[in-house]
Parts: sequence; structure tokens; C-alpha cells
Amino acid sequence: MHEMSIAQSLLEIIRDEMKKHDAKVLRSVRLHIGKLTAIVPESLSFCFEIMTTGTDLEGAKLIMEIIPLVGHCEACHREFEIQDYAFTCPHCGSPDIKTISGEDLSIVEMEVE
Ligand SMILES: [Zn+2]
Repeated sequence: MHEMSIAQSLLEIIRDEMKKHDAKVLRSVRLHIGKLTAIVPESLSFCFEIMTTGTDLEGAKLIMEIIPLVGHCEACHREFEIQDYAFTCPHCGSPDIKTISGEDLSIVEMEVE
């Protein structure tokens, strides 16, 4: 499962950050999940729970927000949401699209004690 390895790398980042800030308890983690990552939030939260159960991070809440895939057309310079992975501009039909957001998974906030 794709989400299992993602949960694992998330936990590595979280532990690193907690060590840096000398935090002992993790309350919650807020994530921005780009639509293009194809992560299923339910699976990710399930994996996260499995991997934290019985550890010092048990009970931490995962708050997830899906970030739409937004593109910028290099031809007509308009921004739009990319639907169904159609990488062409809906305004002028140009395939010259740059994605602005929605490609990555990022931790935006961590609540620790
Ligand atoms: Zn265009």
C-alpha cells in the first residue's frame, strides 16, 4: 500500500521535528494533500494510526486538507483547476501548462507539547 510508506516517511519527519523542538507529546498534524499525489486520506489516517499505536505518538490526530490541482497556462496566462488530469488549458486549449499547486504532500502545522 502506497499510503503505508507515506505514513512512514511522515513519521520520520515528525520525529525529527519533535526532537528539534524538544517536544514530548504530539497532539495533531495538519497536512496538505495535493490532489495529484493520489493519496486516499482514509487510508493514510488508517496507516498512521496503525504505525503510532503503542508508540509515544499514539493518539495524535491527523488533520488532512485536499489541495486542488491548479494550473497556469503559459499561453494565455490564466489559472484554472485541472480536472481529470487533463493537462490542457480550458480557455485556449494550449498544452503548455505549469502546475502551481496540488502536486505535493506537506506538513503545514504540528501541535506538540
Ligand atoms: Zn490558455
